[in-house]
Amino acid sequence: MAKPQAKAIPRRYATRLAVSRASVACVLAIVCILCVALTNGCATTRRIAVLPDGYSVVRDQLVIYSDFDLPRHHRLLDELAAQRGDVAQRLGLPTSDEPIYVYLFDSPEQYRDFVGRHFPDFPERRAVFVETDTRLAVYAHWSDRVAEDLRHEVAHGYLHAVVPHLPLWLDEGLAEYFEPPRHLVGLNQPHVDRLLADHEKHRWSPDMTRLERMVTGGEMTQRDYAEAWAWVHFLLETTPERRELLRQHLAELREGSATRALSDVLYEREPKAGEALVAHLETLRG
Ligand SMILES: [Zn+2]
Repeated sequence: MAKPQAKAIPRRYATRLAVSRASVACVLAIVCILCVALTNGCATTRRIAVLPDGYSVVRDQLVIYSDFDLPRHHRLLDELAAQRGDVAQRLGLPTSDEPIYVYLFDSPEQYRDFVGRHFPDFPERRAVFVETDTRLAVYAHWSDRVAEDLRHEVAHGYLHAVVPHLPLWLDEGLAEYFEPPRHLVGLNQPHVDRLLADHEKHRWSPDMTRLERMVTGGEMTQRDYAEAWAWVHFLLETTPERRELLRQHLAELREGSATRALSDVLYEREPKAGEALVAHLETLRG
């Protein structure tokens, strides 16, 4: 059974926070010390959470391990498997066969214990996506919001499998786009309502270049996530020309030939793209 390598060092944490190699190395050292202490008979009654491995399901790229029986054709798994084609079709990208390992803990306590010990610098989240030099992995726990959590994190997996070096804001904007249930086709109504409310109070106006300057997840606020989603939705769901612009940028990122920021290309074509974005949000008002 495949499990994360103990020495795997995340090169990218695509949820909300960048992780330095040094900090992870420190964590690994601490974990090793703990292991030594335990093997030397360190008395403890606390059960240390380990990766779920009781049950496993393979669905195309997804290799899902859980602490509980998850039917192979569970509705959620069907949706996550279908997302692979959605990402490729919507973004004009190829699919990949690179496995995305999904570890589903039965309880939030076990999940928090595991993530807290292995990735202590990560902020507390219900789910995380971790890309290492050797694998793509999602860690999550079962809850009434597990579907949205997994749609977001697994989307990161599908994207990272085919597009290296995605800018942080675009990575998150795309994951937010694929987070809502499939029948909503990327619409995130709470993001729409929040952005419009802030715009009306003169607290926010769109600025893709500001998002492009962000390099760590810790810099991104919830409103930044909402704006990142809004730009992606604007590009994908308004005109064929805008959709092609995003697809072309992703293709260039994939090939390593991107020389210009997406905002450069967009604002050159549409100097008033920010106003057009707000107008688009108005059409989505709930
Ligand atoms: Zn994310």
